[in-house]
Amino acid sequence: MLSPVLAVTLTVIAAAVPSITSPLTVQLIRRCPPDAACTPIEVVQEMKRETERIWFALGVQLNWVELSSTDPADRPVPDLVVMFEENPRPILGGSVLHGLVLGSMYQPATLCDAGVAHLWVAHVRRHVETVYVHGVPLISGPTHFARLAFAHALGRALAHEVGHYLLGPVHAPYGLMRATFSAHELLDTPMLGVYALDGTSRSRLIARRLERAARQCDTSDAPMRSASQP
Ligand SMILES: [Zn+2]
Repeated sequence: MLSPVLAVTLTVIAAAVPSITSPLTVQLIRRCPPDAACTPIEVVQEMKRETERIWFALGVQLNWVELSSTDPADRPVPDLVVMFEENPRPILGGSVLHGLVLGSMYQPATLCDAGVAHLWVAHVRRHVETVYVHGVPLISGPTHFARLAFAHALGRALAHEVGHYLLGPVHAPYGLMRATFSAHELLDTPMLGVYALDGTSRSRLIARRLERAARQCDTSDAPMRSASQP
């Protein structure tokens, strides 16, 4: 789970060279109700690119798949399904200690199982709308820059949830897997290390990816299993 709040003081983290590079297959499902202003496709595409950039630097190549084929045998099997929730007034269960919940993750039962993440678009928007430029919210403008900034915020929040699929339901004191992000951290050009992994998370990532490979989780004929809530 990712919620905003105050920025933590970040120390500069040296950019680590990925020890392994491994693929992760991700499917995005848009859920935009009829009364909602759906996110422009270029924002969704830039969001994907931002999430991809963050994880590529960490040694994981995201492969986005579209389930357009009518033949189930031709459909790629995603490791992670992302529900892009565009309900303007999402109702989330559970207690929220730190304000808006930007994303959530249903943890898979085992390393080989698929995960399901939710990205709450309206909550990300409300969070970053608190950043004003010349008296108006930065992301409210019609400019390409405003759309790009919102896409980056979505992509960074999503990258955090991808991290929960890869690392489990743990948070770190700094970097991508910290529990809270300020609006500025989601919008601004990131400082070195803000979207990196701390040492513990990096070791855990490598260990879990190697274990997945050892279990041959990525065979193309493996059935898609359901995710379970932690
Ligand atoms: Zn989290």
